[in-house]
Amino acid sequence: MKPPKFDYHAPRSIDEAVALLARYGGDAKPLAGGQSLVPLLNFRLARPAALVDLNRIPALAGIREVDGRVALGAMTRQRAVEFSPVVARRLPLLAEATRWVGHLPIRSRGTIGGSIAHADPSAEYPAVLTALEGTVVARGPKGERVLTSAELFETYLTTTLGPDELLTEVRLPAMPPGAGWAFEEFARRHGDFAIVGIAAACWREGGRLTVRLASAGAGPVPVRLRGAEEIVERDGPGDAAVTAAAARAAELVQPDSDIHASADYRRNLTRVLTGRALRKAIGRAA
Ligand SMILES: Cc1cc2nc3c(=O)[nH]c(=O)nc-3n(C[C@H](O)[C@H](O)[C@H](O)COP(=O)(O)OP(=O)(O)OC[C@H]3O[C@@H](n4cnc5c(N)ncnc54)[C@H](O)[C@@H]3O)c2cc1C
Repeated sequence: MKPPKFDYHAPRSIDEAVALLARYGGDAKPLAGGQSLVPLLNFRLARPAALVDLNRIPALAGIREVDGRVALGAMTRQRAVEFSPVVARRLPLLAEATRWVGHLPIRSRGTIGGSIAHADPSAEYPAVLTALEGTVVARGPKGERVLTSAELFETYLTTTLGPDELLTEVRLPAMPPGAGWAFEEFARRHGDFAIVGIAAACWREGGRLTVRLASAGAGPVPVRLRGAEEIVERDGPGDAAVTAAAARAAELVQPDSDIHASADYRRNLTRVLTGRALRKAIGRAA
């Protein structure tokens, strides 16, 4: 299959890219790693008038630790995230989630910003963004906006980013030293998108236990499983509380049935994987 005709632009700066998107009035698409966009073009499921290639904008790539948080440029490759010492030390949940993303060649091209902007409900990064209460920076002709996960993800493959806005940076609060983490998922074959995935983290600060849980693949957007977190925060990390939290997680999601799995199956997976992820995260916490 060949894509339909499109104009091609390779800007060198964020401002230039934003101006190009605005010039096409909603009919241009940013091209990041191309791992989702190029198949969509080839199948003619997307027919933009122009592609604005972000691969020659150095300001969009790189991982920095600033003021207790880690800032990842939107064009940072998933492979760079996987092997970053900063991510390994400060965001082990993100490092573990990355190993579930497709296969090595996909991660070599695919970007963190592309994955989040694409908003596939089964993708790992949106769940990590949600669990860690991260934000993304969007830049458009009117300036910059900082969005939480709840403000960004609207429904399947849809975000609140305007057609003339670029996602420029992903910001994640560094996990405290001694935090435990786990990303558990189920897919039919290694490298496939998750049927359901669960991001979990926990840590103690000043004697208080904090638990973070979010789902992928269990509804149109990632779901923060606050009601399940509260059970373990209140009752402690014992087995009964983990079992109760896992059962609560299954009540908090609203999955749809599709060709891959029924809604009931996804709900059951949410319960099983939440239990596994919580136990692993608790076991890893210092
Ligand atoms: C076989 C296969 C298996 C895969 N398995 C998984 C998996 O298990 N988990 C997973 O999460 N992903 C998986 N993917 C998808 C992969 O991770 C992609 O990298 C990701 O979905 C898109 O990132 P990209 O950088 O390639 O973006 P692109 O494909 O270039 O873009 C995707 C969309 O986002 C928009 N976009 C990109 N960057 C920006 C930006 N900075 N600002 C605004 N809009 C932007 C584009 O216009 C496009 O609409 C798989 C892909 C393949 C081909």
